Amino acid sequence: MTAQTVQQGDLVTVIGLEVHVQLETDTKIFCGCSTERTDEPNENVCPVCLGLPGALPVLNEAAVEAAVKIGKAIDADIPEETRFHRKNYYYPDLPKNFQITQYDEPICADGELEISVEGDRRTVTVERAHLEEDPGSLQHVGGGGGIDSAEYTLVDYNRAGTPLMEIVTAPDFRSPAEVRAFLAELEEVLEYLGVFDAERDGSLRIDANLSIIPAEEIDGEDTAEIGAEALAAANRTEVKNISSHKGAQKALAYEETRQKNAIQRGRAVEQETRHWDESRGITVSMRSKEEEKDYRYFEEADLPPLRVSGWKEEIAIPELPTARRERFEDEYGLSDEAASKLTSTKQVADFYEDVAGEYDPDLAATWVADNLLGELNYRDMEITAIEGRLEEVTRLVELVATDEITAKNARETVLRSMLDDGRTPDEVVAEEGLGKTGEDEVKRAVVEAVEENPDAVADYESGDDGAINFLVGQVMQKTGGSADPGDVNQLLRAELED
Ligand code: ADP
Ligand code: ZN
Ligand code: MG
Repeated sequence: MTAQTVQQGDLVTVIGLEVHVQLETDTKIFCGCSTERTDEPNENVCPVCLGLPGALPVLNEAAVEAAVKIGKAIDADIPEETRFHRKNYYYPDLPKNFQITQYDEPICADGELEISVEGDRRTVTVERAHLEEDPGSLQHVGGGGGIDSAEYTLVDYNRAGTPLMEIVTAPDFRSPAEVRAFLAELEEVLEYLGVFDAERDGSLRIDANLSIIPAEEIDGEDTAEIGAEALAAANRTEVKNISSHKGAQKALAYEETRQKNAIQRGRAVEQETRHWDESRGITVSMRSKEEEKDYRYFEEADLPPLRVSGWKEEIAIPELPTARRERFEDEYGLSDEAASKLTSTKQVADFYEDVAGEYDPDLAATWVADNLLGELNYRDMEITAIEGRLEEVTRLVELVATDEITAKNARETVLRSMLDDGRTPDEVVAEEGLGKTGEDEVKRAVVEAVEENPDAVADYESGDDGAINFLVGQVMQKTGGSADPGDVNQLLRAELED
């Protein structure tokens, strides 16, 4: 996807992702158990998600609807009919000893997602996206606390059966930074669709495949054109246990360096599964990579084939971030940067449109993109932290738009107090005496300042323009800082012209 010319001797990095996304549904994918997080282990369980003999799965319509929305958002082919398979493996977090997943007939195939990397827009191919169930979770206790060093391990099946969408990309990435951009874009799209909650722990889990291909083995002229044969022949590692954008970038940067070093020293890269150790910042070998035949896939006979034709057409999706960003640029005349910031989450974008509808779109952009997001960011807060108070922010913009308070006071005093001590804008304005001084009062202060400071006036009249600043300062003092310095400057000049 990156159109970079290949140079002799280059080592080209190739990355493909398998992203597991937890879908936001009230209940699990094959039973009626709640997906709500709870601190009590094994609370949300039943015979189906515990894999007890004889219990039968029933597919959750909401999970299918979410999958169709994702398919539409990435412009994928959604076949008329799709099927479920059993993927067999033994691990304590998997009570049935198989996972219900999809195999050769996934619900979505051949989609794409556009990303932006350092100003360049590129398209990443999504080979497939399929529905499956999440396993339970293991808790390693005592000893070293690690998977291989704990005294014992506890298992919690609350998570077992949570609906997942596994999104598999083509090996289209050429750097860890591109991967990070993709994950950010994907998360944005999923949040816009309302099928995903990024705040939820473990809601995004990434397996990242990386290989290094020497330039000599690439048929094409540039790094975008690596032939299927070269891709298949390359030994790659699959790095597991990645749960954030930043983690993905770090893990892959480590893995990229590790493999390049091996190749430069003439050593082969093993085809294997590796574990990202976040705290140590390294990847460690887990096992040789399993092959498809190890899983003995066979059809899930307890679930009939799923037909979505006739229904999928009715499932609507909202305007997505890219389209919305472009519309913000056209409709409100915003810069690319402002439009990107304002569409970063649906809530921010919705809020911006509310404010822009009532006041000047530029003023609204400054307030939402710079002031509000800036102050929230400084406090490590998300827009959700003020969810119930967006009317108060609108009122604040109104106070500025109607010239009742200065922009400086609005941001530095009113907005900050709103976030820090929870007061409303009107309370802060009244309690801190921020109401802009009336024009008459400012004029009186201007006349006084001119009368009381003949030396400064003389300096100004003899051509020392800087003397005006001293006089502005005097007026600001007299009005307790609540006059607009620009207005004061103009009034002073007018007064001195007479
Ligand atoms: P497997 O059968 O081993 O699971 P797949 O063809 O399903 O392999 O691909 C799994 C993931 O590996 C995909 O995300 C794909 O993009 C990625 N991948 C394939 N070839 C390479 C490669 N040479 N380097 C890095 N990633 C690759
Ligand atoms: Zn259950
Ligand atoms: Mg595969």
